[in-house]
Amino acid sequence: MIRKIRHESPGEYLSGLFNITPEFKRFNARNDIFNRAVWDDRVNAKDFFRSYDIANYKPKASKGFDHWDYAFRNASWHLTDQIGERHAREDGKVEGFTNYYTLNAPGSPTKVVIDDPVEATHRIKLAARMFGAGNCGICEVDDRWLYTHTFNRKTGGNPEMDLPKHLKYAILLIIPMDHRLSKTYPTALSGASTGLGYTTGLSCAVSLAQFITNLGFEAVASMNDTALNIPMAIAAGLGEYGRHGLLITPQFGPNIRITKVFTDLPLVADQPIEFGVKTFCEECQLCASACPARAIPSGKPQAEPPSISSLSGITKYTVDADKCFKFWVGMNSDCAICIRVCPYNKDFSKWWHHLALSWSRWRWVRRILLFMEKKLQFGAKLSSASWWAGH
Ligand code: SF4
Ligand code: SF4
Repeated sequence: MIRKIRHESPGEYLSGLFNITPEFKRFNARNDIFNRAVWDDRVNAKDFFRSYDIANYKPKASKGFDHWDYAFRNASWHLTDQIGERHAREDGKVEGFTNYYTLNAPGSPTKVVIDDPVEATHRIKLAARMFGAGNCGICEVDDRWLYTHTFNRKTGGNPEMDLPKHLKYAILLIIPMDHRLSKTYPTALSGASTGLGYTTGLSCAVSLAQFITNLGFEAVASMNDTALNIPMAIAAGLGEYGRHGLLITPQFGPNIRITKVFTDLPLVADQPIEFGVKTFCEECQLCASACPARAIPSGKPQAEPPSISSLSGITKYTVDADKCFKFWVGMNSDCAICIRVCPYNKDFSKWWHHLALSWSRWRWVRRILLFMEKKLQFGAKLSSASWWAGH
């Protein structure tokens, strides 16, 4: 059962959910673990990044890391890299990761008349689905989730965030990743699930931003740059926060990517939802136990940030980004074992999973679900050979 939280504003809801204190500080993108690889000697990721150029991949003896796997993974990232880095040589901006996307074409000089924001919201959400989103939600921009500064990977510069202040709304886009491909995490092959998620997310966000611009309003497409996606997606009613630090959606579980569009088009904001994730995570520790880097906390939500790549002044389950990324670097590919093993990593369009989700509000059901999850190994890894053998 999905419950909409209507008794308070999304901002107040998030303040209570994460016990945000006056010590809370907005995040500086310089401290993002990928950006730290540029300036922090403790994060040595040269071989990791190099492997995304097929000329430099190094095959491994373990399955899922051969030439086919790297070729497929790197191809899945190709458009994201090409478009994201189109100006990087000149200005150091990596669009989608350090800076938001620049639009290719100016929009309409006249604004469409918006008489009915409810109808406008419906049309925007419909267009978002057509552009590839599995789900879409709206929130008002909450400054707490905006980065204070961007980061320039060429110069090491750390200029202030320049998102125009009048872009009052954010449209959050949920991009489902391929369920079967995600079962092969962690391999070079499974990195294609991530890459495809980003490429679809890029296409969806940029197309939606262009659509809004064509209507005469302003729109900025954004991926991992500019603001934290997860709290904004919670505010936009798209899911709940999991122990693995990821958004869990009622449609696709955590097997998703998130992109967004900031706009001044008048829209109707959504309300946060709850469907039992908080209680489930208190009883389940599958992600924490399965994490090879021991980066996911197994206890209660913590107030102390594990590293400078985390927020402070907030109490939540926080993944140790240093430990997590070190594992990625050692493997030369990204890992998402925590997504693979999560009991919410199901296709909820199947009625039996949907029923289990609805009934998981009862403790005895959660216990049975967890027992079955472990016994039947729903989160077991799919071999790369099985994946390549077809569906
Ligand atoms: S991505 Fe892998 S290493 Fe990182 S937290 Fe998840 S399971 Fe652990
Ligand atoms: S694996 Fe279990 S504890 Fe971890 S996020 Fe999923 S439900 Fe929560």
